Amino acid sequence: MHSRECYEVAVKHGKPVIVMEPVKGGTLAKLPADAEKLFRDDSMSIPSWAIRFVASLDNVMVVLSGMSSIEQMDNNTAYMQDFKPLSEDEKKLCFKAADIINSQIAIPCTGCSYCTEGCPMKIAIPKYFSLYNENMRDDMEEKGWTINFSNYGNLVSSGFGKASDCIACGQCEEVCPQHLPIIENLKKVAAHFER
Ligand code: SF4
Ligand code: SF4
Repeated sequence: MHSRECYEVAVKHGKPVIVMEPVKGGTLAKLPADAEKLFRDDSMSIPSWAIRFVASLDNVMVVLSGMSSIEQMDNNTAYMQDFKPLSEDEKKLCFKAADIINSQIAIPCTGCSYCTEGCPMKIAIPKYFSLYNENMRDDMEEKGWTINFSNYGNLVSSGFGKASDCIACGQCEEVCPQHLPIIENLKKVAAHFER
């Protein structure tokens, strides 16, 4: 289930919500240039937009943000101390940024996992797509290596089939609500992570 769906169920039942990873493991701190310029004239930091967005939602009781420096902690506490929810216009900016981010995702898999249950090769399809998307978002030429290569290897060692184990049976593509060309995408994943 997506975080949005979980959130909506909690709100429907009047439950308080605790948000983890509001900056998506740091990925929302580094936006595509087109999205970043939407926030450039603002004195607030880019990650603060992600945190303030979720903190502005109904029923949100706590937002847990991982911090790796004193500067990040100072920044987070500064705007949370006297927290002001985002205005409607500010929320619109966030949705605009989300559209730009989503349009640049290499494989638009939603992580629903409908495809995995019937896979005879036990391939961790959405997990691999997520790692691949992260690497495509990163400047791989500059970095050369990312933690996602290890994460891919760890998934394979823990018993999942490799992307290259796909036998093209087509089961996954039949059930994918996004109609993704999973078999072709797994070839890209294999070429990237198994080289
Ligand atoms: S086509 Fe490949 S990934 Fe899809 S279910 Fe068959 S073996 Fe698994
Ligand atoms: S069914 Fe499609 S959208 Fe859902 S996890 Fe599998 S590939 Fe992604």
